[in-house]
Amino acid sequence: MDAGGTLIKIAYIKDGQLELRKFPSVKLTDIAAWISGHFTEVELCVTGGKSDLLQKLLDQKVQQIVEFEATCRGVLHLLQGKEQMPEEHVLTNVGTGTSIHIVTKDEHFRIGGTGVGGGTLLGLSRLLAEVGDYDDIIRLAPQGSREHIDLKVSQIYEGSVPPISGDLTASNFGNLAHDPVNLNPPDYLASVIGLVGETVTTVSVHAAMQHGLSTIVYIGSSFIGNEMLRKVVADYTILRGAVPVLLDNGEYSGAIGALLSIE
Ligand code: ADP
Repeated sequence: MDAGGTLIKIAYIKDGQLELRKFPSVKLTDIAAWISGHFTEVELCVTGGKSDLLQKLLDQKVQQIVEFEATCRGVLHLLQGKEQMPEEHVLTNVGTGTSIHIVTKDEHFRIGGTGVGGGTLLGLSRLLAEVGDYDDIIRLAPQGSREHIDLKVSQIYEGSVPPISGDLTASNFGNLAHDPVNLNPPDYLASVIGLVGETVTTVSVHAAMQHGLSTIVYIGSSFIGNEMLRKVVADYTILRGAVPVLLDNGEYSGAIGALLSIE
């Protein structure tokens, strides 16, 4: 189990198959009841910030593992068998917040992160567009346009040739400094996704450059069904000269790592 700030992810083996489930973290008591109801006489291992809280609600012995250990272990498992497996890479986990790790042949360590992540996506969407539900956000955002909200390099260099790609965002939300035009909620949602995507990519690309790595593996529930965020991150990573890998089921890395760690 990976008991995160927003979602609890659970990985388990049933009839020889890996099963994956997720629940909102606010329903911790219901989740504990679901676990107790579904599993008897099983080994449990939990990771993540809400590990202690969840453990207290379960009436059986639970092992604990450090989150970053579990995540890296799970990612290596998910990457197994993938062609061109990037053994050495930057690992960026866009969860409620974003944390960044360096993974090499011999070691893995956390180098930092940013508070801009999936929680920012939910919070700013609620604030600016009055859309608070994740599924509504990802449904409505593609109908929006960032054009009148974000300021592009080409708009600053109007009439002349910019020294860097004119398509780059010069200032997220920077266009609103001028007279705002008629904007719809989806426009704000699209720009919030742009802000989150470009921020996590920039931090990841800088980490990659600093450590001489070229591949960035992105995981975290913020990518679930969120084609717009996936595209912003993939395109921007490529534009900045690195190779993006958006790992399928990456949001379950912590839970899978915890499962693999059961002694
Ligand atoms: P954590 O481990 O911190 O809970 P996750 O990797 O699970 O982080 O990512 C949480 C983010 O995933 C949320 O902030 C939100 O942007 C996004 N998300 C995806 N699906 C949901 C959902 N069903 N409910 C709420 N947030 C969701």
